[in-house]
Amino acid sequence: MPTRKELLDMTTAMHRHLCPRQVLGVRMGLYAGELLGLALPQSDKRLYTIVETDGCAADGIAVAVNCWVGRRTLRIEDYGKVAATFVDTQTGQALRIVPRPTVRQRAYAYAPDAASKWEAQLIGYQLMPADELFDVQEVRLRTPIEAIISRPGRKALCDVCGEEIMNEREVRRDGALLCRACAGDSYYLLVADPALGHPEPPQPQFALLLPGR
Ligand SMILES: [Zn+2]
Ligand SMILES: [Zn+2]
Repeated sequence: MPTRKELLDMTTAMHRHLCPRQVLGVRMGLYAGELLGLALPQSDKRLYTIVETDGCAADGIAVAVNCWVGRRTLRIEDYGKVAATFVDTQTGQALRIVPRPTVRQRAYAYAPDAASKWEAQLIGYQLMPADELFDVQEVRLRTPIEAIISRPGRKALCDVCGEEIMNEREVRRDGALLCRACAGDSYYLLVADPALGHPEPPQPQFALLLPGR
């Protein structure tokens, strides 16, 4: 099992620098393993992590727990917070870990010779006991972890755009099988769409596009 130092080296290599948020991320991940009784970084997919921000903290967490987007063991719910929920997919136990509001100030006590606030955090976050660094909440996911993981490999075709949908992300509405975008839950607008510029994106015309239904 890699040491905390080795994990910090790994995240430093990814970022070409080490910063306080990467340290927080690594410490959060290791603390989750301790609290859930899991050996981390994991070699399987038992732990699933939901991180509440992108950026440095997310990579610190990913390295410490070995959860990755590409392995379908990590997702971002972007609340802009250095916080994460760690889910033991075998027991269903889910712990949300977040730095205490006072950690920035407390870091100074652990790094009295630090040249700057940034350096005090960088050093302090490595030395502070985890229970002084973090608050832990036991949580229940609104979407069950089984549904988040879903059945990988399952495929469907959107009745409107015809694009392939993986991992049970399709939406059923009025007998139609839709991708999230065609169901109106799209993060983008098509530039070629004449409706662009209108306040509301167009609603798909199911009746026209779904002959025979
Ligand atoms: Zn950074
Ligand atoms: Zn579609």
